Amino acid sequence: MAHRTPIESGAPDPKPFMHPTLLKNYGNWKYHDRPRPGVLHHVSHSGDEVWTVRAGTQRQMDVYTIRKLCDIADTYADGHVRFTIRSNIEFMVADPNKVAPLISALQESGFPVGGTGNSVSMIAHTQGWLHCDIPGTDASGAVKALMDELHEEFIREEMPNRVHLSTSCCEINCGGQADIAIIVQHTKPPKINHDLVANVCERPAVVARCPVAAIRPALVNGKPSLEVDEKKCICCGACYPPCPPMQINDPEHSKLAIWVGGKNSNARGKPTFMKMVASGLPNNPPRWPEVSEIVKRILHVYKNDARSWERLSDWIERIGWPRFFEKCDLPFTKYLIDDWRGSRANLNASTHIRF
Ligand code: SF4
Ligand code: SF4
Repeated sequence: MAHRTPIESGAPDPKPFMHPTLLKNYGNWKYHDRPRPGVLHHVSHSGDEVWTVRAGTQRQMDVYTIRKLCDIADTYADGHVRFTIRSNIEFMVADPNKVAPLISALQESGFPVGGTGNSVSMIAHTQGWLHCDIPGTDASGAVKALMDELHEEFIREEMPNRVHLSTSCCEINCGGQADIAIIVQHTKPPKINHDLVANVCERPAVVARCPVAAIRPALVNGKPSLEVDEKKCICCGACYPPCPPMQINDPEHSKLAIWVGGKNSNARGKPTFMKMVASGLPNNPPRWPEVSEIVKRILHVYKNDARSWERLSDWIERIGWPRFFEKCDLPFTKYLIDDWRGSRANLNASTHIRF
């Protein structure tokens, strides 16, 4: 049989685009340090050194902004850039004399330099209105509003440990674990437009999609449609993407919730899942002041109360959830943190889905 080369669709090989000093010393680094917030300094066993300057971007950028960043790279750096997973841009230079002019050029163009070490790094956020079809809020707008207020924490490294924030514009898809996450929270079951279901939705696929088996086929006004058992529905929004006539986004009932204590890495402690600590916050563009106020409050208490190197989840683990709610002056309700002890009763809602 003829040999077939596998089709790779993962991350492309970074080496063709790598800064020459990084390429030359690939896998041969001796140590690294941070001479100031926003600057990493790597030293190789060969004696080569490279400085990386990190700046915040708004992630969803127009072509003029990208050109501006590329011009800065060509003029002040060595023409190489890379993006971090939190949408920061990094410029690498092999000459220490280029670091200060590069920082000045970035700051003069409105790009804050920071996001390294124990800072509040740029918020990882989901695509929202730009290229997704199901968002209930504008995640990138909430990021802009919040980072305007957290600018000082981005350019300094004064937190007990690094702080990763995220925003998600639906409850079910992209996002991930973060120290503090802002996530859409639907509070009412979907409203069904029965005239459209038969034309638009593949009904068995929609029925199968519901995690608690709350959707059934139904005949409404003589047309094939669907119905929702609202007592079972957990308002997750998973039926809306495959069946847009099951509209769940609502200007009043789609709220925002804040979750805390998530962590992907296993440095110093195991990865952790975040838990909801504030719910039903208004989805209030363009500045989302209610959300910003609570996020800043949690950050402030964490900054003052945590011990050095405690991540937010470590801090809560040490002081306990009741103290967390007290210190952050957040009301504790039955809708908040779930330890999943009751999940068998909560989730075993049908005979065909058993947990
Ligand atoms: S979080 Fe949901 S709505 Fe937002 S971009 Fe991802 S899939 Fe789309
Ligand atoms: S919102 Fe979620 S729980 Fe409710 S019917 Fe749709 S898929 Fe099921």
